[in-house]
Amino acid sequence: MLSLYRRAVLGVAGIGPVERWSRRHGWRLGARRFVAGESIEDALPSLRALVEQGRSLVVDILGEYVSQRASAASMAGGVAGTIDALARAGLPPVLSIKPTQLGLTFDPDLAAELATDLAMRAEAVGGRVCLDMEDHRFVDGTLELLGRLRRAGATRSSTVLQAYLHRSPADLEALLTDAPAGSELRIVKGAYHEAAGVALQDGAAIRRTYLALCERAWQLGAKVNVATHDDGLIREAAAFVRGARLARDRYELQLLYGVRPRLQQRLVDDGHPVRLYVPVGADWYGYFSRRLAERPANAAVVLRGILG
Ligand SMILES: Cc1cc2nc3c(=O)[nH]c(=O)nc-3n(C[C@H](O)[C@H](O)[C@H](O)COP(=O)(O)OP(=O)(O)OC[C@H]3O[C@@H](n4cnc5c(N)ncnc54)[C@H](O)[C@@H]3O)c2cc1C
Repeated sequence: MLSLYRRAVLGVAGIGPVERWSRRHGWRLGARRFVAGESIEDALPSLRALVEQGRSLVVDILGEYVSQRASAASMAGGVAGTIDALARAGLPPVLSIKPTQLGLTFDPDLAAELATDLAMRAEAVGGRVCLDMEDHRFVDGTLELLGRLRRAGATRSSTVLQAYLHRSPADLEALLTDAPAGSELRIVKGAYHEAAGVALQDGAAIRRTYLALCERAWQLGAKVNVATHDDGLIREAAAFVRGARLARDRYELQLLYGVRPRLQQRLVDDGHPVRLYVPVGADWYGYFSRRLAERPANAAVVLRGILG
C-alpha cells in the first residue's frame, strides 16, 4: 500500500506543471521543514544549534542529475564554498555529495575530478565526504567513483548501500574487502522507485536485509552508519552493538533533518552517537518529493497549507 502511495507521489512530482507550481510555492508549504536553509549562510544558525544539542552533522548541498559541465562545476563550487564556510564556523565539514550533481550521468571523469578536489579539500580541514547512493543506474558509477577518490588519497571518503537492491549484499563484500582501516559505510532502505527486477518490494524483506547488511559490515570491521527512522531497526542495531561490545566509534545513528525530532532527542539522551543529514540549498524539489513520498502525513501537511 505504502509502495503504491510512494509510486503515485513520485510519479505526480515528475509532471512538468506540478513541478513548476511546487517549486514556486513548496518552500512556504513545507519544504523548509526538511531543508535547513536556501544557502549555507541561512542554515548556519540552525546547524550551530543542532551541534549544541549534541548532534553531529552531514551537510548535503541540494542538486542532482545535472546534464551540463557548467552546472556540475557550479555545483562543485557551491560544495567547496560550504566546506570553507563550515570550517570557518568551527563545524566539521562532513558533506554528502550526490555523484549526479557532479556530472556522473554524462561524464564520469569530470565527476571524479570534481569529487576528488572536494574530498581532498574537506580532508585537509578535518572533514570528509560521503557519496550518496542514487537510483540503481548509478550504483556501479558511484562505487567506481569511491575507488577513485580513495586511490587519489581521500581515504576517509565513504558511500551508501541500499537494503532494497538485490545486488547490495554482493556490493558490500566487494566494498569492504581490502577497504582502508576504519572505513565507514551508511546503510539505508532506499528512497527511489525501483522495479522488482532490481529491488525488493516487500517491507519485511527489506528490513531483514537491512539488518543482515549492518551485521556483515560490522563483522568485516567497518564503522556502520545506521541511517533510518525505523524504531525496530534502530533497536535491533543497538542490541547488536551492545551484544558484540563494539566500541562507540564503530557506529552512528543517522537521521534526516526535520524527520522524527522526538526520536532524535531520545537517541541523543540515550547516549548514542547521532548524526543528522542536513540538506541546504535552493534546489530542494527532488529531495522534498522523496520525503513526501515516504509518509502520507507529510503530504497532508502540504495539502492543509494549500487549502488554507
Ligand atoms: C541519514 C540518511 C541518509 C540517507 N541517504 C540515502 C541515500 O544515499 N540513498 C537513498 O536511496 N536513500 C537515502 N536515505 C533515505 C532512505 O533510503 C529512506 O528512504 C528513508 O530513510 C525512509 O526510510 P526509513 O528507514 O526511515 O523507514 P520508514 O519505514 O520509511 O520509516 C520509519 C518511521 O519513520 C517515519 N518516517 C520516515 N520517513 C519520514 C519522513 N520523511 N517524514 C516523517 N516521518 C518519516 C515513518 O512514518 C515511520 O514511522 C537516507 C536516509 C537517512 C536517514
